[in-house]
Amino acid sequence: MDQDSLSKEDVYDVIIIGGGPAGLTAGMYTARARLSTVLIEKLGIGGQASITDRIENYPGFVEGISGPELVHTMEEQARSFGMRIVFGEVTTIKCSEESIIKKVFVNGEPEPYQCLSLVLAAGHEQRKLGVPGEKDYTGKGVSYCATCDGAFFRDLPIAVVGGGDVALEEALFLTRFAKKIYVIHRRDRLRGTKILQERAFNNNKIEFIFDSIVDEIFGQMLVDGVKVRNLKTGERKDLEVNGVFVFVGWIPGLSFLGSIIERSEDGYIVVDKEMETSREGVFACGDCRKKNLRQIVTACGDGATAAFSAQHYVERMKGEEYV
Ligand SMILES: Cc1cc2nc3c(=O)[nH]c(=O)nc-3n(C[C@H](O)[C@H](O)[C@H](O)COP(=O)(O)OP(=O)(O)OC[C@H]3O[C@@H](n4cnc5c(N)ncnc54)[C@H](O)[C@@H]3O)c2cc1C
Repeated sequence: MDQDSLSKEDVYDVIIIGGGPAGLTAGMYTARARLSTVLIEKLGIGGQASITDRIENYPGFVEGISGPELVHTMEEQARSFGMRIVFGEVTTIKCSEESIIKKVFVNGEPEPYQCLSLVLAAGHEQRKLGVPGEKDYTGKGVSYCATCDGAFFRDLPIAVVGGGDVALEEALFLTRFAKKIYVIHRRDRLRGTKILQERAFNNNKIEFIFDSIVDEIFGQMLVDGVKVRNLKTGERKDLEVNGVFVFVGWIPGLSFLGSIIERSEDGYIVVDKEMETSREGVFACGDCRKKNLRQIVTACGDGATAAFSAQHYVERMKGEEYV
C-alpha cells in the first residue's frame, strides 16, 4: 500500500478519518462525486473487518467472504474514483465558528491537513478486562484478535472471555487451532446471535463457564492460566490455559475529538439522520457513532449517507463562496 504524498497547503473538499468499511464507503462516494477526498488511517486499511476471518452476513456473498478480501476490494474501488490515503494517526482536529476550514493534525505534527468537510469514521476500540496480568501478558498469550494470533495456539487449551457475537465467532474460529476452548461469560446466558450460539453449543471443543469472571491472568514468561471466580457461588478456581482471548465489549477511542462535538453518555458521536454531528460540516458514520447495530453493512450505509451529506455541504459552501 503506497502512502499518497499530499500537500498541506491545499484545502481538500473532504477528509475522512478512519479506513474501515464506513470510511472506505464514504470515500468511494465523495471521490465518485468528484470531490477531492483524502482518507487518513492510523493502522492498516480495513479496520475491524480486516481482522475478521469470514463474513457471512454482508449481502452479495452466498458463501461468505474473508474480511481482508472484502476491504481490499473496497479500497481498490474507492481509489479507482480518486480517493487518496494518508497513513498516520489523527491527534487533534480544530473547527471554529469563524471559518469553514477544518484542520486535521496528524501524528502531532504542527502543520495540519485542511478541508471543507470532515467525515469521522474512526470506529471504536476493544475494552480491556483490566485485571492483573492482562497488560503484562499482552502479546505473550493475551490477545484481542483470533485471526491474528489463533495459529500460535495449535493443540493448546485457551480461554475466550465474553458472550456476544464477536466472542462466539472468534471462539468458533479458534476451534481450528486450539485443543480446548473455555468460553468464560459473566452472565448465565449468551448475548450472541442464535445461529452462532447453536454452532458454539454443538462444538465439542468449546466448554462454557457461565456466571464467571476472570480475576487474574498468571504465568511465568507466557500465560499459564487464569483465576476464575463464579459470581453466584463465589467459588474460585485456576484454569490452565496458554492463551486468553478477550472480547468483552467496546469503547469509543475518540480522544482526538476533545469536546468539540456532542457525544452520548458512553462517548459515541451523536448524529442526526443525515449523519451530521453537532458541528456544521462535520459528519460521523459507522461504529464511532451512537447506534444500536454495529456491523459492516450498517457502517457502509452510514458511510454513504455521511458522504452524500458532506457532498451537499461542500457544494453549498462553494456556491456561497462564488456568489
Ligand atoms: C472479530 C470481529 C468480527 C466481526 N464480524 C463481523 C461480521 O461477521 N459481520 C459484520 O457485519 N460485522 C462484523 N464485525 C463488526 C464490523 O467489523 C464493524 O462493525 C465494522 O468494521 C465497523 O466499521 P467502521 O468503519 O465503522 O469502523 P472500523 O472497522 O473500526 O474502522 C475504523 C478505522 O479507523 C481507524 N482510526 C481510529 N482512530 C484513528 C485516528 N485517530 N487516526 C486515524 N485512523 C484512526 C482505525 O485504525 C480503523 O482502521 C466484526 C468485528 C470484529 C472485531
